[in-house]
Amino acid sequence: MTKRRTIPSGSLAALILKPGRDRSVRLRHPWVFSGAIDRVDGDPAPGATVEVRAADGTLLGRAAWSPRSMIRGRLWTIGGGETVGVELFRQRLRRAVDWRRRAGLLEPGAACRLLNGEADGFPGLIVDRYDRWLVAQFLAMGVEVHKEVLARLLMEEVPGVSGLYERSDVEVRRKEGLPLQAGPLLGEEPPGLVVIRERGLDCLVDIRHGHKTGYYLDQRDNRAWLAPYAAGGRLLNLFSYTGGFALAALQAGAGETINVDSSAPALDLLREQGRRNGLDPARLVTVQADVFSHLRQLRDAGERFDMVVLDPPKFAETQAQVDKAARGYKDINLLALKLLQPGGLLLTFSCSGAIGDDLFWKILFGAAVEAGREVQVLARLSAGVDHPLALAFPEGLYLKGLACRLGH
Ligand code: SAH
Repeated sequence: MTKRRTIPSGSLAALILKPGRDRSVRLRHPWVFSGAIDRVDGDPAPGATVEVRAADGTLLGRAAWSPRSMIRGRLWTIGGGETVGVELFRQRLRRAVDWRRRAGLLEPGAACRLLNGEADGFPGLIVDRYDRWLVAQFLAMGVEVHKEVLARLLMEEVPGVSGLYERSDVEVRRKEGLPLQAGPLLGEEPPGLVVIRERGLDCLVDIRHGHKTGYYLDQRDNRAWLAPYAAGGRLLNLFSYTGGFALAALQAGAGETINVDSSAPALDLLREQGRRNGLDPARLVTVQADVFSHLRQLRDAGERFDMVVLDPPKFAETQAQVDKAARGYKDINLLALKLLQPGGLLLTFSCSGAIGDDLFWKILFGAAVEAGREVQVLARLSAGVDHPLALAFPEGLYLKGLACRLGH
């Protein structure tokens, strides 16, 4: 239990940190963990704005209070006592929108991540834009209590928006003591499938039922990375979801793509997108299967590919799962390397925050040694410029990838 003290009515409650535990906040890290708090002065409601003070009383910033989470405070402001409310939100939102405009991502029909949580000054808030539709995930108490204001601001400040839909049906909300919920928030309801344009292709996004907010925007630049090498080649697209990598490869002239995913609705949407873009269905093969076992079937059948994309879901949710996850990554990377032609390309990813760059590199190294293959690393890949990271918050980096070429 956190110690508490009462305060005069009308003043903000305050989290008083233990001696020596103010360093991370001073370095602009946006989270205050329960173990760093000595006591709470006042009785703040969940989500309320509280002051964060060092043991000697120095004001360090203002945070949203999350009594149920290990992350007890998420900092709205660092250093001063700026008022946390509509004007601060508007300013930050404008900054985020301006950047996406400058990056050319706000064109009609385009899609991008508009707010990337902590890095855009909104701890726990994700907002993606799909043409005229916004989809938001409120993942922490602080943004939850300001939902109405934030929703109104999003409709006002983002150009050409018809409606805002909520997809807060995400497990992490339970850690905040928040229920999982989804549905329209403001404006018109989006259609069953929203059409977005990605490098001249029509892509279909199922905002209501798709994964996350409906689509993997974080792989946009990596799909573009693959395209120039795809002509005439055979692509094995593992964990394909709705086939973003395959569409990019086919548009660039790939001969054939084999798309493996366990989700039937995702593969249905993949085929639908193929038809819509006039792609030859014979070149868009879908296989509903478990990638781990399907890879073994392909190996036993002696299949060979010019390109393999390996984009699995998060294998490690926590630090405790890292070892098991590492074995999983090694297993599929080993099999993938064995299926490649000499000179073939492997784009391999991990979206486990708990698996760092170095560890991911070592896992691939281990797989290459065991496969007896020489591997060149051509590029380190991650999400695009619409997924900024705060320098003080490297935990925000979850997607990491290596683009590799097999030796001869
Ligand atoms: N590469 C995709 C995103 C992949 S997300 C894109 O660019 O859009 C991960 C996918 O893995 C999800 O579609 C999920 O359905 C699928 N998946 C999860 N576990 C699986 C398994 N064991 N076998 C096959 N597919 C799996």
